Amino acid sequence: MRSAKIVIIGGGVVGASTAYHLATRGESDVVVLERGEMQGTGSTGRATGGVREQFGTEINIRMSMYSIDFFEHCEFRTGYDPKGYLFFATDKAVFEQLKRNAAKQAETGVRGVEILGRDEIERRVPAMNCDDIVGGTFGVRDGFIDPVAVMHGFSKAAVERGAKIELGCEATKINVANGRVESVSTGDGEVGCDAVVVCTGAWTRELAATAGIDVPIEPLRRQIVWARCENEIPSSLPMVIDAGSGFHFRPAVDFWEPSDSVVGNRDILFAFPDREESPSFNTQFDAAFSDKVYELARHRARFLFESRPIVEKCRAGLYENTPDHHAIIGGCGVEGLYFASGFSGHGVMHSPASGRAIAEIVLDGNASFLDVSCLSLERFERGDLLTETGYI
Ligand SMILES: Cc1cc2nc3c(=O)[nH]c(=O)nc-3n(C[C@H](O)[C@H](O)[C@H](O)COP(=O)(O)OP(=O)(O)OC[C@H]3O[C@@H](n4cnc5c(N)ncnc54)[C@H](O)[C@@H]3O)c2cc1C
Repeated sequence: MRSAKIVIIGGGVVGASTAYHLATRGESDVVVLERGEMQGTGSTGRATGGVREQFGTEINIRMSMYSIDFFEHCEFRTGYDPKGYLFFATDKAVFEQLKRNAAKQAETGVRGVEILGRDEIERRVPAMNCDDIVGGTFGVRDGFIDPVAVMHGFSKAAVERGAKIELGCEATKINVANGRVESVSTGDGEVGCDAVVVCTGAWTRELAATAGIDVPIEPLRRQIVWARCENEIPSSLPMVIDAGSGFHFRPAVDFWEPSDSVVGNRDILFAFPDREESPSFNTQFDAAFSDKVYELARHRARFLFESRPIVEKCRAGLYENTPDHHAIIGGCGVEGLYFASGFSGHGVMHSPASGRAIAEIVLDGNASFLDVSCLSLERFERGDLLTETGYI
């Protein structure tokens, strides 16, 4: 039986960040088991690439603050581009909530979240119908990152420090003896270990059950339309989000082929969280989704409504939702078994903070750079759920 001190299951952005943070702490006897023949075939490779400090809970705000600093200054290319997030409201109650969130963000140390009136929103996004908009907020440090570059950056730097990544290796069972983790069974034999970190995103629940642990993560399909507009999109266009419906758009970037697939700057991504979607592992893009999102675009922005979908570039992936839409970071009732999963749509942007947190928990027993204890798995049993009003 081969062995490693720490086995990380899942080689998406969170598994890669965990390997990196363990390795930078000097723990290089680490192996990442990824069932895909390449990394990024889970949710990471389908993400929109947004990053924002504009959340409603202190833990999400702090995870973002830490992660944005990391994206800005780290040793590899992350594609961090602070174009901003513009949340707008068409309803006074939603605007009040945005303002309360902005106050909370400022209190937590976020710099430069602006409260905007309708005229200012119209000035910043001139092609948008603002008639029904009452106001919004804009985060200057928010913007875009490249999820694939971040995942590869973490992976390369981890491997340079001694970590190993095994592709095409599916973990089928986490073996426990006398209340502690002993090994991981895979399609390619057993791997003995002292600790296992489960970073399998939307696929976590089934695997955790093999160790007798229930992890409440549900997969939910999210779809994105890629379309080509008639005219060029202003290069300053931020992520624009209707805080009420979740309808949003951003300039398109192909993270897998960054150089040659965008025509000028006419390509756009737009989407909304379809409330008719129910939990499943379906990742097929459905043409009916296009019809729904174009219907929303009809009212909001003519340039979106008149855009032409590029069908082969439209995509679907899975959100990995927990009941309170916050990640699960930490251990459980089995000694040596840890989770960094369930990011509920924020796993790319929070990957630096979550990788560091879980590395510190595994090595030191707790995360000292940031108190993430409110993200423990136990919170579901205790009923200590968090409430995020900025979930999209
Ligand atoms: C449409 C869409 C848009 C999104 N937009 C954003 C965004 O703008 N910003 C943001 O921060 N987040 C966004 N997200 C969410 C983000 O993609 C995820 O939160 C993040 O990628 C989670 O990373 P992960 O490493 O935990 O999971 P994944 O990337 O899903 O990686 C898990 C990996 O585990 C592997 N795996 C699973 N089971 C096993 C097994 N048994 N053995 C071995 N390997 C296994 C899978 O193959 C996969 O590679 C979006 C998601 C979707 C679907």
